[in-house]
Amino acid sequence: MTIADIRPTDEVLGLRARYRAFMEEHVYPNEPVLGREDEESDAVIARLRELAKAEGLWAPHLPPEAGGSSGSFLVYAHLNEEIGRSVWAQLVFGCQAPDAGNGEILWHFGTDEQKERWLAPLVAGEVRSFFSMTEPEVPGSDPTTLRTRAVRDGDEWVIDGHKWFSSGAEGAAFGIVMAVTDPDAEPHRRATQIVVSADTPGVEIVRAVPTMGHRGRGWTTHCEVRYTGVRVPVDSTLGEVGDGFRIAQKRLGPGRIHHVMRWLGQMQRAFELMCGYALEREAFGGPLADKQTVQNWIADSAAEIQACRLMTLDAAHKIDQGDEARVEVSLIKFFAAGVLHDVIDRAVQVHGARGLTDETPLGVMYAMARGARIYDGPDEVHRMVVARRILKSFAAGEPWHFE
Ligand SMILES: Cc1cc2nc3c(=O)[nH]c(=O)nc-3n(C[C@H](O)[C@H](O)[C@H](O)COP(=O)(O)OP(=O)(O)OC[C@H]3O[C@@H](n4cnc5c(N)ncnc54)[C@H](O)[C@@H]3O)c2cc1C
Repeated sequence: MTIADIRPTDEVLGLRARYRAFMEEHVYPNEPVLGREDEESDAVIARLRELAKAEGLWAPHLPPEAGGSSGSFLVYAHLNEEIGRSVWAQLVFGCQAPDAGNGEILWHFGTDEQKERWLAPLVAGEVRSFFSMTEPEVPGSDPTTLRTRAVRDGDEWVIDGHKWFSSGAEGAAFGIVMAVTDPDAEPHRRATQIVVSADTPGVEIVRAVPTMGHRGRGWTTHCEVRYTGVRVPVDSTLGEVGDGFRIAQKRLGPGRIHHVMRWLGQMQRAFELMCGYALEREAFGGPLADKQTVQNWIADSAAEIQACRLMTLDAAHKIDQGDEARVEVSLIKFFAAGVLHDVIDRAVQVHGARGLTDETPLGVMYAMARGARIYDGPDEVHRMVVARRILKSFAAGEPWHFE
């Protein structure tokens, strides 16, 4: 990879400027309303989504033939330096988690019928979806331990199980459920992904699990879901029976880098707020910007953000070239999650008490950032993946090449 490979073209810069203009005109001014998560905010989101579609800014994570407007990971990374700046913007542009990841696996593994029934309304923004893998009783870090079962009965699957952190399940039209279909198979062939309509009898959203004092509403919920004798036709199977982990890998790899791309926007916004406030606020006879501790925070943040940018663009470029970029994605997932947390934390600290209020977006950003070190694989698991791959290479007599 050279810097030229990952630099935005003039066309991408032009597109990015259009996203920036949209954010400035329509998203940032509406953040206080959107943050209320009530009916008025639903109406604002609906209006902004129509505007984004009309301006050709809809679903930039998917190629045009799938109903999107881009499909290149590298381009999407550049665009997310704008989109990622507001936690609400992904919803406005139709590229929100978990729908973006679900859309991608339906696009890659869905049958024509599944695409028509589930993918088309999802990409059009008419419905939302959820991804139901994690269970409270077993470690999400090691999903080979999952207990939810799907048992074949004639032309149907009968699903029984208990999940939580099915994000966005409240109000969603369907979920993609990871269930054990063959408990005797080797661990990574035991599970299958099955599309389940949310109104199927036996699907019960038990509750939205509050996190850090926030219950959420609709898209922002993390739900506990029970599946009791849930019957769905076998043609709801995504891919082949036993492909659950293979597809999860296809989903989570891109999903992880999508998250990191958004974090680039979040870090840069926090950084700008930190620098602006440091110049403006005075204490002990001069601006905070003159204090060396604050200067250190700014310098460290600048170095770390730039490292995250380059690592993310590199991973995105490799994925566009057909590489799974497993090590690169794991590296950036844990590294950027830490930087995201630290930069927002420093920005909050520079703002003092104001950093915790809703006068700046930092408080909400900080709460959201904490989950980043856990969802889609905790830091420790990604470190393990990276170290194992590197050590395997050394053990085989091949040093690790930084490319
Ligand atoms: C905001 C948020 C949204 C989420 N959305 C979804 C969703 O939409 N769908 C879904 O299915 N799940 C979702 N999850 C769940 C998430 O994927 C799991 O929380 C994650 O996989 C970790 O699983 P766990 O919580 O069971 O932790 P565990 O697996 O029990 O791990 C607990 C801790 O153990 C440590 N640990 C684990 N393995 C190792 C290791 N090998 N070495 C060292 N330490 C280790 C880590 O510190 C880890 O945090 C979400 C989680 C969050 C926080």
